[in-house]
Amino acid sequence: MELSKVHIERLRELLARPAQRIVILSHTNPDGDAVGSSLAWAEVLRGMGHTVTCIVPNKYPYFLDWMPGIEEVVVFKTDTEGRAARAVAEADILFCLDFNAVSRLEILSETIQANTTAVRVLIDHHLSPDEGFDLIFSHPDSSSTCFLVYCLIEALFGTQAITRRMGELLYVGMMTDTGNFAFSFLTPELFRAVAVLVEKGISIPDIHNSVYNAYTEGRARLFGYAINRKMELIQDGTVAYMSLLESEMRRFQFQQGDSEGFVNYALTIKKVKMSAMFLAHRKFIRISLRSRGNVDVNLFARKYFNGGGHKNAAGGKSFVSMRETIDHYVRSVAEFAAEGHLG
Ligand code: 5GP
Ligand code: MN
Repeated sequence: MELSKVHIERLRELLARPAQRIVILSHTNPDGDAVGSSLAWAEVLRGMGHTVTCIVPNKYPYFLDWMPGIEEVVVFKTDTEGRAARAVAEADILFCLDFNAVSRLEILSETIQANTTAVRVLIDHHLSPDEGFDLIFSHPDSSSTCFLVYCLIEALFGTQAITRRMGELLYVGMMTDTGNFAFSFLTPELFRAVAVLVEKGISIPDIHNSVYNAYTEGRARLFGYAINRKMELIQDGTVAYMSLLESEMRRFQFQQGDSEGFVNYALTIKKVKMSAMFLAHRKFIRISLRSRGNVDVNLFARKYFNGGGHKNAAGGKSFVSMRETIDHYVRSVAEFAAEGHLG
């Protein structure tokens, strides 16, 4: 990972000021990478004597409950005491981790826009970051924000600064964002970093079990239902989609995070190059997109669903009905294919 020496020195100077009040923010529907990178970075900053508050817009999935320090994360949506707003208003530095645009904070966006004094630092691996940051570490060639945070710690202090606890947190994001080391940007540097984390004493089987083998029965049955009853193939079997209505989710006692991984499953079918998941929320439909190889779902999400993300994993939102959303998807896929984007 080529980190800018100039940027590293600016970050070092920023953090050399004593006892800074720091807020670490991550994206809506925080995942393992969002939470892992936030908590590990918070540990580093606290070790330097700073006061740190981690804030996420809404709740993280229950299978991350075991992560060291997660109980301190302020969930803005249920923060009745105004802790998040106060921490943001008092902050000297705001770190934005694992997202590229303030709009990805959704219900938390306004609170952030109101704060004008704090220095804003972006640490992220999504394409096309927004302007409006004072210091940017944007590395779309990093497989996770956790790996990027690892590289930052290494550049600032050396790997001796990494504790086992930080190692566990960082490994979660490295593992989940790479689909357990199966997607892109699997560089030798990443595996060297993993080797260092193993030297620190992390247990890869324990972390794997805590994240991937900790679902509810309802989730397992919902998965079966979604694949068997709700997965559709179009475009001569090369494009898949799946949808879940709120009533269907209720039937399986749906909890936040339960649909994680469903969208990837269609890509286990050899012919399938692109897959979508439509998940109904009260006010809109959340869309997850995945692809393989050169099929660019970041482009697709931007063009047709006002979203974005990475080349092989992106998302967006739809504010019309499920039927209309699916119709729009089917039409958009046909246009995308006709323009040669499906290979
Ligand atoms: P997921 O399907 O896991 O929710 O999201 C996959 C990727 O797409 C993530 O990297 C995420 O940041 C991005 N993404 C998901 N939803 C949106 C969205 O509404 N807007 C943008 N710009 N990116 C999104
Ligand atoms: Mn990430």
